[in-house]
Amino acid sequence: MKTPRRGRRRLPPVQTGLSGRCPECGEGQLFKGLLSFQESCAACDASFLDEDAGDGPAIFVIFAVGIFIIPMALAFHMLLDPPLAVTFVIWSLIIILSSLWLLRLMRGVMFNIAWQRNAREVRLQDFKGKDSDT
Ligand SMILES: [Zn+2]
Repeated sequence: MKTPRRGRRRLPPVQTGLSGRCPECGEGQLFKGLLSFQESCAACDASFLDEDAGDGPAIFVIFAVGIFIIPMALAFHMLLDPPLAVTFVIWSLIIILSSLWLLRLMRGVMFNIAWQRNAREVRLQDFKGKDSDT
């Protein structure tokens, strides 16, 4: 597996993220399932093993669902006055499916943005070298 040369090409991260494409070449699939990333790109062999979108996508999804979908569920129940079980079943499905869909989109976008900006997790080893110099 060859080492990816990150950020060489400037692909639009939102576009490649929303389409679930590789941030390096824009051709290969980023996801191997619903939410998990491939180990590497099938088209350009860029490694995705060290990449992690973190908790950021989940935070955006929680805000989006809480701000837009929960009020719609409440409005549905107040305006149409169906049995509570009907409201619960319908909106539980809508909330779960929309959350999974939004989470996939946001993971792709945030992964692509992090890739282009060469962001990575800071590890303890990164600071050990600085301490030994002083
Ligand atoms: Zn690629």
